[in-house]
Amino acid sequence: AKHSGRSTFAWYTPDMDAEAQRRKEIEEGLVKALRLDQFQLLYQPQYSLSDNKLKGYESLIRWEHPTKGTIAPDVFIPVAEDSGLIEDIGDWVLFHACREAARWEDKSLRVAVNVSAAQFKPGETERKVALALTESGLAPERLEIEITESLLIANTAAVVDTLQKIRALGVSIAMDDFGTGYSSLSYLSRFPFDKIKIDRSFIRTLGENPSTDAIVTAIIGLGRSLDVQITAEGVEDMRQVTLLRAAGCHLVQGFLYGRPGQASDAASVHLGETLT
Ligand code: C2E
Ligand code: CA
Ligand code: CA
Ligand code: CA
Repeated sequence: AKHSGRSTFAWYTPDMDAEAQRRKEIEEGLVKALRLDQFQLLYQPQYSLSDNKLKGYESLIRWEHPTKGTIAPDVFIPVAEDSGLIEDIGDWVLFHACREAARWEDKSLRVAVNVSAAQFKPGETERKVALALTESGLAPERLEIEITESLLIANTAAVVDTLQKIRALGVSIAMDDFGTGYSSLSYLSRFPFDKIKIDRSFIRTLGENPSTDAIVTAIIGLGRSLDVQITAEGVEDMRQVTLLRAAGCHLVQGFLYGRPGQASDAASVHLGETLT
């Protein structure tokens, strides 16, 4: 009698039970985290390749758990998305990032905010972005919203309309994780992005894999001809920098230039720092 009771259901395994339990715990923890202010934003620098100048930072959320320590977003963002908590967490991120960036000494630096497709609500999202700007006093030109292709899969007119309204505020829109979806290219003709971020999975094997080199070079060329800025994410060594520079990539972000760090560091330490 190896099989008994509920395990006779083909779709049910003890592993799924453990997974459901894990997600439930995270979800309950997230509700508390929101209430007790356990989230933190780290900022990772983005540099211009042509002149090695710091241009801004991407904000990346962390959960400072009282007993488990720092929890990475890959662990809890998917749970937040499925449970609907991403809306409150996303609001916290947007307002917090704008407020912190407004306090940075260098008023030319931008802040990029990740906006999940699950938190995106036409009619709401543009209103919240506008509110975060007025509330923080951050100049709209300093804010960038990073969205992924999943938002455009449905391609509703309402989503495009909302993106356009955000853009009309003066905020720029970046397509994140470019190349990892099913029809990255088709989205470029449907919405005028300001920026494309080439996913780290492509940058990782740059210089080691001729077909990756060709793809990255083509994406950069495409971006340049569409007048879209290109950011390479996950840049870890000079070999990648040399190739990206030769291909005409505009911006770089990665451990070589700086790991995600505290807001106080973003305000001072990286300032004036250059890398050649
Ligand atoms: P992402 O938006 O693609 O962010 C880039 C991720 O790559 C970050 O991981 C960053 O720390 C990491 N990274 C940057 N440079 C390097 C590098 O040179 N080498 C390596 N190995 N990794 C690098 P992180 O902070 O763990 O975030 C993971 C993902 O979680 C993000 O991927 C994004 O999808 C999501 N996320 C982070 N913060 C937020 C947020 O505030 N809101 C939402 N909705 N999602 C977020
Ligand atoms: Ca991102
Ligand atoms: Ca990515
Ligand atoms: Ca991502």
